[in-house]
Amino acid sequence: MKPEKLSDAEKGIYEWQTWVPDFGVEGQEKLKGSSVLISRCGGLGGVVAYELAAAGVGRLVLAHAGNVVASDLNRQILMTHAGLGKSRVESAKRRLGELNPHIDIVAVPENINEKNAARLVDEVDLVVDCAPLFEERFLLNREAVRQNKPLVDCAMYELEAQITTISPGRTPCLSCLYPTNPEKWKREFPVFGAVSGTVACLGAMEAIKVLTGLGEPLYDFLLLCDLRSMRFRRVRVSRRADCTICGT
Ligand SMILES: [Zn+2]
Repeated sequence: MKPEKLSDAEKGIYEWQTWVPDFGVEGQEKLKGSSVLISRCGGLGGVVAYELAAAGVGRLVLAHAGNVVASDLNRQILMTHAGLGKSRVESAKRRLGELNPHIDIVAVPENINEKNAARLVDEVDLVVDCAPLFEERFLLNREAVRQNKPLVDCAMYELEAQITTISPGRTPCLSCLYPTNPEKWKREFPVFGAVSGTVACLGAMEAIKVLTGLGEPLYDFLLLCDLRSMRFRRVRVSRRADCTICGT
């Protein structure tokens, strides 16, 4: 990531966030020079993409296969009724372009897989993992660790959500937390858009913090959010020496 100078138009757009004292114009220039891969742009990734586009991250790479279906519309805010039956990533790219024409948006009509994971991670400074299935999450984790790229991992189920931020070699990786594939995670699950959107906003904020050095990212902690009771708690997590991905 190389900071890039802002145009006068951009200074106007981002003015209110540059008032954050430890962020400032310098932080905004870092965001402009940054690129982020978002794995899936549905209920979770779509909101991450929306917030990072609005915040002015210079380049967003969105990976999501398939076309918009009716049951996406309770939570996937980048999709519309007019887009039913059409490509999800193209719909997302169009909506984000309307929101912020000053950034580059790359639409990849594929989910993360063995063939594309290394190349897509190589293209960016940071990865936000919003895929529901562990096969995809483990692939991204493996590539992020191998290429030493920070990874924000967001997940949710029903009214619960969790998030952690992985700094390879420094914090536990996803495989330290889940040595084997948890059986209960499915592609389809109970969800309100307000729950996926909540953890997505937390994930977008983590990405902004890691990219610009703002605040303290969720390194070594898993944040568990129970929106049924509104109890949020941070649990300390540790690296596993025998981790097959990041162990020594
Ligand atoms: Zn690990």
